[in-house]
Amino acid sequence: MYSIAIDGPAGAGKSTIAKRIAKELNFIYVDTGAMYRSIALYFLRKGTDPADVEAIAAECPNIKVTLAYEDGAQQVLLNGENVTGFIRNEEVGNMASKTSAIPAVRAALLDLQRDMAKTADILMDGRDIGTNVLPNADLKIYLTASSAVRAKRRYDELVAKGETCDINKIEEDIITRDKQDMSREIAPLKQAEDAVLVDSSDMNIDEVVEAIKAEFEKVK
Ligand code: C5P
Repeated sequence: MYSIAIDGPAGAGKSTIAKRIAKELNFIYVDTGAMYRSIALYFLRKGTDPADVEAIAAECPNIKVTLAYEDGAQQVLLNGENVTGFIRNEEVGNMASKTSAIPAVRAALLDLQRDMAKTADILMDGRDIGTNVLPNADLKIYLTASSAVRAKRRYDELVAKGETCDINKIEEDIITRDKQDMSREIAPLKQAEDAVLVDSSDMNIDEVVEAIKAEFEKVK
């Protein structure tokens, strides 16, 4: 069985790229960000202050995140409710960046993530997959791009959905999120020593997919 880990900062295109590669290689794609987002949604709905670490830790045993697949697409269930449609917005992303720094939240998801890699060829993306979740992954990729490019991509995505937004505010949010994810004490975002760096600032999706598949050919 093979495992591929793709880590990188917010908006680097990890999920788009990961989905494509998983499909082409016939791997199961696990979007760990969606799991952290579901837990963030739980606390947003409850109105919990993300700074209240004790309240969050005390609540973790009541949260069950599970993944299911419908036509190959990952669905996230939060205590049995399919929340896939509610987690892809900036509010949830920003909350996830705060709550994911709390050890009890990470502990609640770690075993589940590791167990998934024991059952199938898996491509997992997130922030700490190569460094922490799957330290023995066959291939580790650190996918990044400049914050300006990441903000522009996110802006284009939102505009395509008909939303109005401010590109400078998006870039500020991205920089704040990177900082939070890179400077937290537990499982911070960083490039694993044995990860291959892919900077997609000047690459299109096809080029990134091909580059990562070529790296996989070298290790399989
Ligand atoms: O990748 P995505 O934007 O969906 O992730 C949302 C947040 O979840 C990230 O900003 C990060 O704080 C957290 N996360 C994490 N570890 C992972 C995946 C996501 O801490 N493996």
